[in-house]
Amino acid sequence: MSKYKYLLFDADNTLFDFDRCERAAFRAALESSPLEYNEDVYADYHVINDGLWKLLEKGGIERSKLKSERFRLLFEKYGAEGVDSVDFAAKYESKLGEQSYEIDGVYDLLKRLCAKYDIYVITNGLTNVQESRFSRSRMTSLVKDVFISEKVGYAKPDKRYFDYVISQVGDPDRSDYIVIGDSLTSDIDGAINSGIECCWYNRHGDDPGDRNPNYIIDDILSVETVLEHGQN
Ligand SMILES: [Mg+2]
Repeated sequence: MSKYKYLLFDADNTLFDFDRCERAAFRAALESSPLEYNEDVYADYHVINDGLWKLLEKGGIERSKLKSERFRLLFEKYGAEGVDSVDFAAKYESKLGEQSYEIDGVYDLLKRLCAKYDIYVITNGLTNVQESRFSRSRMTSLVKDVFISEKVGYAKPDKRYFDYVISQVGDPDRSDYIVIGDSLTSDIDGAINSGIECCWYNRHGDDPGDRNPNYIIDDILSVETVLEHGQN
């Protein structure tokens, strides 16, 4: 029998196939712009976006600015004129909220797990995007609650975010909880900071560095075995 009662699942790229959602939203948003979607445009967008996120981590740009700047730079690169990057960013976010592709098998996984555990979602995603996406997802009926960091006021990996989640779930015994997520810097560091056990979904065969997650899986569906029997 499992020692856990509460499963705290990350959303993007743990339950939702964020990569697929992102591509579909990008493609749909471009439809009303002078720039046509193709693989090169999408690859260039990623280079620009990744560069800006790295800049953000160093404090070089605000999050609100990043949202539109990545598109402004993309349109500039392709000489696409007359597109308001702030309006485009809003359109992209709205399209993103319409995409709720799950990782294959995750719905059935949650269906089985929710018979044995209380399932919660912990996410740093944007409020409007996540609310829209969960309102469309069949997974929502299997989940007790979704904690969106923008609404909580703190974000993973901040211990105060996890303190809030635990206070809302209502059981102060941290050994009853486990965090399951793909991000070392938000999910795993957050769990470790907060004294909660964790299972790292290592999607890309990354190196955990000096972190010591309790469990590491390379397929999200393996979490079921981990919860019942521990690491293989
Ligand atoms: Mg994630």
